[in-house]
Amino acid sequence: MQMKIFTYGHESGFAGKEGKDRMETKRKDGSGAWDVQSGCRLCPRECMADRAHGETGYCGMSMELTVARAALHFWEEPCICAGGGSGTVFFSGCTLQCVFCQNYEIAAGTAGKRISSKRLVEIFWELKEQGAENINLVTAGHFLPLVAPALYEAKAQGLDIPIVYNTGGYEKAGTLRQLEGLVDIWLPDYKYRDGALAQRYSHCADYPKRAHEALAEMVRQAGAPVFDGTGRMKKGVIVRHLVLPGCVADSKDVLDYLHDTWGVRIWTSILSQYTPLPHVGTDPNLGRRVTDEEYEEVVDYACFLGMKQVYIQEGVCAEACFIPAFDGTGV
Ligand code: SF4
Repeated sequence: MQMKIFTYGHESGFAGKEGKDRMETKRKDGSGAWDVQSGCRLCPRECMADRAHGETGYCGMSMELTVARAALHFWEEPCICAGGGSGTVFFSGCTLQCVFCQNYEIAAGTAGKRISSKRLVEIFWELKEQGAENINLVTAGHFLPLVAPALYEAKAQGLDIPIVYNTGGYEKAGTLRQLEGLVDIWLPDYKYRDGALAQRYSHCADYPKRAHEALAEMVRQAGAPVFDGTGRMKKGVIVRHLVLPGCVADSKDVLDYLHDTWGVRIWTSILSQYTPLPHVGTDPNLGRRVTDEEYEEVVDYACFLGMKQVYIQEGVCAEACFIPAFDGTGV
């Protein structure tokens, strides 16, 4: 196994016309791909919120671009953040709303500043000037009609560092198709193999099916992983799996799927950093951290399967202090 150890890692469609996933033909500047008139179906929730007129959807957001933090981040996998750090933009709101969310302030939409797409382009450049190795879009899926044009504009202006799409994995493949040519590195979570567990913790029993479809689209666009001579990833897919307390069996099922289906076409990152936060309530599992034994059992299983491209964590990872401040820095 080619196993890399790192100390800590964190972590559209408005309705179109081709059945549920269809989008309109994409314009070269990304502005025409999203029908904002007929209710939002960007993500699998398809809640049809009239976001263009201020209504908020399940993700908690209208179509006002809202960002909670834009700063260099050094706690991703080393191929993402080694050197100058990852230029990370945290978008407010989330389509998943997991009960154990580690970025609760932004997922719930209680933190963030409203900005224009033009300002987002400026932020990309400011991060590059600070030394960012890439632009890392964290949970941008519900804002893609505004983010995609910003990416087109930044690239037209000459922005030449990789674009990372960092997502909880609950995405529509048809939406992701609109990003063809804009994203270099896909960084999706794959949280659950069991739909019942997905329903219990993220209220979406179809998570595994949607995550599989989204991952297939990501691999199609990225192709095989590409690294430069210093080990920085230039192109590819890294699938993250956060081991949850009491859920080792599901973690093993996740690894079975990733190994059997994708082999060396992806890298897998097995995360130990689950942090119990006050909002998890009285769930019998979520009130504690993952034990060393649980995490080791999952890593050992990856070895048993013969997985060849895996990141694992070591050291004191499960600390809430590693969660960045969503205080509008850099926005
Ligand atoms: S992106 Fe938000 S508003 Fe749109 S379908 Fe998903 S949850 Fe609903």
